[in-house]
Amino acid sequence: MEKREQLYEGKAKKVYKTDDPELYIVSYKDDATAFDGQKKGTIVGKGVVNNRMSNYLMRLLEKAGVPTHYVQELNDRETVVKKVSIVPLEVIIRNISAGSFAKRYGVEEGIVFDAPTIEFSYKNDELHDPLINAYHARALKLATAGEIETIKSLAFKVNDTLKAYFLSLGVKLVDFKLEFGRLSDGSIVLADEISPDTCRFWDAETNEKLDKDRFRRDLGGVEDAYREMMKRVLGE
Ligand code: ADP
Ligand code: UDP
Repeated sequence: MEKREQLYEGKAKKVYKTDDPELYIVSYKDDATAFDGQKKGTIVGKGVVNNRMSNYLMRLLEKAGVPTHYVQELNDRETVVKKVSIVPLEVIIRNISAGSFAKRYGVEEGIVFDAPTIEFSYKNDELHDPLINAYHARALKLATAGEIETIKSLAFKVNDTLKAYFLSLGVKLVDFKLEFGRLSDGSIVLADEISPDTCRFWDAETNEKLDKDRFRRDLGGVEDAYREMMKRVLGE
């Protein structure tokens, strides 16, 4: 499988066509951004960690019955995925208060919820990804009612699977963002990535942050945190 024309360069990844019209290659960069692109930097080795960890988790999720875009890891930074039309929603699941939830509702970080929450943001850079609900998503024709139900149930299944998995590695899965897409037959699959860029991970014993918050909040030890998460997931 070879890369053809570059279709897109995002903040963290590049997307290429291949010789198969149904497959893309994604290439993970070390570039990091935060606060709607206002903060920019490099996290050395991040592309490798995110690529390999995301692929491992997608394979785990497939075994648990969650359909994903994952096809094949080509090398440390590049993966073959099924081409999808991305549903323009950021699907956020939370188990513990943190980040924008804590800020928005004026509560401290670290409150363990009785049940996970789900929220949607409209993926639209010009509008700065505003928070919307399922009715708004339907009104804006971003997804059908059936697709939203599928996305919700898959997102909670991802949470059940990953929460238990990370706890077995001594990591609390605080919150995370998912993206879903439509295959050419219209079926919904999990797409994009699952990594320390898109999840909050706290060490189960010490609550040490092991994710992109170290970059966002200038906590230092950013590369070490990514490496530590890769070590816990992949044993290296
Ligand atoms: P951003 O667009 O937010 O800067 P990235 O740098 O991660 O993010 O770019 C990757 C882009 O590829 C995202 O827009 C994402 O929605 C999209 N994408 C992820 N998986 C697939 C896929 N399987 N098919 C098509 N597009 C995808
Ligand atoms: N997240 C993400 N991309 C975004 C926004 C959020 O991957 O564009 C992830 C983020 O890493 C965290 C979760 O979604 O794990 C919830 O983020 P939150 O809404 O608290 O926003 P933030 O504090 O990152 O602004």
